[in-house]
Amino acid sequence: MRLTSDGPHHAVFEFGDLKVVSLRDGYVDMPPARLRDENNRPLDELPDTVPLVDGNLRLSVNAFFITDGTRSLLIDTGASNAWHSTMGSLLDALDEAGIHRADVTDVALTHRHEDHVGGLIAPDGAEAFPALQRIWIGAEDASVFTGRLEPVRDLVVPLTGPVAVNDRVTALPTPGHTDGHTIYDVSSSAGHLLVWGDTVHVPSLQFDQPHASWELDGDQSQARRARLALMERLTKPHHYVAGAHLDFPGVGRVTRNGDDGYSLEYLAPPAP
Ligand SMILES: [Zn+2]
Repeated sequence: MRLTSDGPHHAVFEFGDLKVVSLRDGYVDMPPARLRDENNRPLDELPDTVPLVDGNLRLSVNAFFITDGTRSLLIDTGASNAWHSTMGSLLDALDEAGIHRADVTDVALTHRHEDHVGGLIAPDGAEAFPALQRIWIGAEDASVFTGRLEPVRDLVVPLTGPVAVNDRVTALPTPGHTDGHTIYDVSSSAGHLLVWGDTVHVPSLQFDQPHASWELDGDQSQARRARLALMERLTKPHHYVAGAHLDFPGVGRVTRNGDDGYSLEYLAPPAP
């Protein structure tokens, strides 16, 4: 897997016979106290390797577009104007990447939070993707399709177990961050890419200390177990990760680092 081109809001990776486009929706700042130890208490101190911006952690917000040239899938959609104004660049990112909104027929969501589902509706209130046919989401998270998301509710396909979304992408339930949290295993001639949603929120800390959890993980023990299992799985050859909150463009390889930790090696340098 390798970077072939990029711009301010997108990055294109060649992944064997597939193309993976990372799309930058923006960022969100969160207080460091959201990081939790195994007793659900804020961490006593953060290592110097964890950067802060005005005292906050800055989480990148990314989505990913996977295509074989004919068939495509958009995984997550950013926040649009449903949350902080530091997000909502997904449609610009698609434009920049030369992807037409009308060509997005299938969307797969990792979970129900605003920074993942909000982009189904454009800031003007219209449906963001006029030719959308299906929206995959873990069944336990499907109740989010009310109110602002009501116009697209009929397109929802609830996932209730490992399911092939298409012949290249398999949905795998990974409850913990939310009950319906789902990752997507993308398989190409070059290996596997796990698009793992909110398995990690603070990459500068949680690879080195994968037991460190996040206040907004609905079930922290379950989220921790899922994170450890996925990191271990990613150490296999020809395995790559793409994360919603890894530093944009958010694609890398995972290696073991000592007995308890892991390291993330980005395939493209993180953008500032
Ligand atoms: Zn998120």
